[in-house]
Amino acid sequence: MGRNGKKSFYEQSMETFHRAAELIHLDRRVRMELEEPDFEHIFYVTVETRDRLVPLVLGDLARFADLRPSDVRAGEALEPLADGAFILHRRALLSAGITMREGVIHIPGKGFFRLEPGGPRKFKAYRIQHNQVRGPYKGGIRFHPDVSLDLFKTLAADMTWKTAIAEVPFGGAKGGIKIDPFAFSREEIEHISLRYVYKLKNLMGPFLDIPAPDVGTNGEIMAYMMRQYTDGERQHHALRGVVTGKDVRIGGSEGRSRATGQGVVYCLEEWAREAGLELRGARVILQGFGNVGSAAAEILHAMGARIVAVNDAGGTVHREAGLDVPALVQHVHANPRNLRRTVAAFPGGTALSEDDFWAMPAEVCIPAALGGEIDGRVAERLRVRVLAEAANGPTTPEGDEVLRRRGIEVIPDVICNAGGVTVSYYEWLQNQRLEHWTEAEVNARLEQALKKNYALIRDVARGQGRRTPLYDARSYCVGEPVDVRTAAMVVALKRIEAHYLIEGFSQ
Ligand code: NAD
Repeated sequence: MGRNGKKSFYEQSMETFHRAAELIHLDRRVRMELEEPDFEHIFYVTVETRDRLVPLVLGDLARFADLRPSDVRAGEALEPLADGAFILHRRALLSAGITMREGVIHIPGKGFFRLEPGGPRKFKAYRIQHNQVRGPYKGGIRFHPDVSLDLFKTLAADMTWKTAIAEVPFGGAKGGIKIDPFAFSREEIEHISLRYVYKLKNLMGPFLDIPAPDVGTNGEIMAYMMRQYTDGERQHHALRGVVTGKDVRIGGSEGRSRATGQGVVYCLEEWAREAGLELRGARVILQGFGNVGSAAAEILHAMGARIVAVNDAGGTVHREAGLDVPALVQHVHANPRNLRRTVAAFPGGTALSEDDFWAMPAEVCIPAALGGEIDGRVAERLRVRVLAEAANGPTTPEGDEVLRRRGIEVIPDVICNAGGVTVSYYEWLQNQRLEHWTEAEVNARLEQALKKNYALIRDVARGQGRRTPLYDARSYCVGEPVDVRTAAMVVALKRIEAHYLIEGFSQ
């Protein structure tokens, strides 16, 4: 039990594990091996931060109203941060006349700021390695202020189930840093990323533990991490597979940046085919417009679906006829002034409250932001036919219960967002073989892998023990119908258990 007698995230998320373990009479020792992570690494990363100009608080403004404006060649000297502060690059001091009083300067056109000297800062960092019986630990790196051991344990275990479901030869891990990445400059983020790998170097590697991007990280950060890990190593080219999600020009895979969103769409296609729903013209509500959400939106939009509302950390935009997704992508990801990369203030739609967002009628809801968003209250409001879980752990156990009662179908996260790790595996394979596959090749393999395993999960859910040219559901069925989330866990546990039962245990 966590604090206040409430269950921790980890305990909540393991409920499906325990349910499936009972159903298949999972070997007792295997169950014990999987109940807790192999390793929980918690450490600290320290870096030097730059001097900042922080906007003056209102009460202080009057005192400095007469301060002479500085002649700062502001454009190039100041780097704006999403929290309203600026990084002061020292070259500004060389080329501009600055007037400062009590640490305050006035920059014409920008306002009044207090100089906050930089210095060393310490951040809490994590890497949880849950299980490696099927292959090297694998999982994303999250940079976010609300991370914890409890959360990373949950996400690391999810990776163990997901890699088994996607049939990629990896285990499960997750990690990251407790930080708001929007409050730091690119250079500071680079240093923080390098330092993270410096500390973790002996615990990672292409055959040991392979990070990838997650919330708050991206291909750029993966490049820093690869550099830090491989620089100076004798056979550094053989080590490119130490991280995935890299830029295609430096050993990344075609299709990787869109793979998670693409996988969500493949699962939706498979669901829609059986449900008799045409995705062309279908209405979609989407939470999260980052890597996963924007890719899913672009692909669905190109297929003719209507993205009627998008909610993110900054607000919600809505357009009944369907948002112009390419324009929204430009607004969020290609506009240097949109520092928080939010859909808010998109001119091609109207604002909406978060409550109204969840209640918007649509055929499909895609949560692609953080976990725990679909609780009992939100699940009661939803007016959709299917929930495609692009995010990790978006639905609470209470939310799940309500969805079941209301007949809203769920495509569980462990298959729905497995496209990312599947193409990460293709990237890793290409790195090992020094090959480069086309996007068509990547997507063809991805489509088959996801649709096949999703169909298998649904057969297990229905208790339909049949054999098809692509899979044999007979050895997975538990003799009765089960919910689809439990069915996915059954598939994962059977595949993991086989390794322990056949290989045995070292003593
Ligand atoms: P990202 O950082 O690129 O985007 C996150 C999005 O969530 C942003 O649009 C942000 O505004 C939104 N968001 C954050 N807090 C929010 C809040 N409180 N309310 C509403 N929206 C909020 O992250 P991403 O890589 O797109 O990951 C999104 C989800 O998908 C996460 O749950 C992640 O674990 C999962 N996932 C990602 C990958 C991948 O390949 N990147 C793979 C599998 C699963």
